Amino acid sequence: MGRIHSIQSLGTVDGPGVRCVVFCQGCPLRCGYCHNPDTWDPAAGREVTAEEVFRQAARFRPYFGTEGGITLSGGEPLLQPAFVRELFSRCKEAGIHTALDTSGALWNEEVEAVLAVTDLVLLDLKMTNDADYRQHIGCSLEKPLFFLEKLREKGIPCWIRQVIVPGVNDTEENVEALNRLIAGHPQVKRVQLLPFKKICKTKYDQMGIPFPFDRYSHCPPERAKELEKAVRLPSV
Ligand code: SF4
Repeated sequence: MGRIHSIQSLGTVDGPGVRCVVFCQGCPLRCGYCHNPDTWDPAAGREVTAEEVFRQAARFRPYFGTEGGITLSGGEPLLQPAFVRELFSRCKEAGIHTALDTSGALWNEEVEAVLAVTDLVLLDLKMTNDADYRQHIGCSLEKPLFFLEKLREKGIPCWIRQVIVPGVNDTEENVEALNRLIAGHPQVKRVQLLPFKKICKTKYDQMGIPFPFDRYSHCPPERAKELEKAVRLPSV
């Protein structure tokens, strides 16, 4: 059994190709720009079986093509490792590509078992220094870096994602720091810098809680694209 927030039948931004995206319920972090504060509470959402979600995802198979598949996002999917493992195992048996969108903040034997049935990890390396991580995200930078190291050891392909926030990390120096963090990690196949948006503010208002990053302005998409050009992918 697992708890999910929702299922997006066909998405094109969370991994390669066309994908069924399952948003898991529950997250141990509190990123200042989080788009899904309604996924934080691990007791909320809808209880489902892995079999039920697998059957739903498998219905979209004709749309997946050669690249697509299923992506588990959230929230933090790795808060429910047994559920994710079961779901991914079924997908793998059925030949459906599995992608895991994670903050990389959790590590234990069950998480390791999930990686055995994961084809691609979308690792959110949210900031490039420990002070920003502790202030804006809610854990140390060490945690996602440890996760990244494990992906290197296991040779699991990975995309790095970072939200670019003006006044926090929208500089060439930040991209250079990111380049240094991923250097020596040939499993990193792609880096996506995503512009900070504020459309999620209505969710915070509805929940009656402050939106921590309300004080920052949104990032023009072209600025994120420009910074992305300074990314250096590690060579194999
Ligand atoms: S890890 Fe994701 S879901 Fe959790 S607080 Fe951060 S952005 Fe939100």
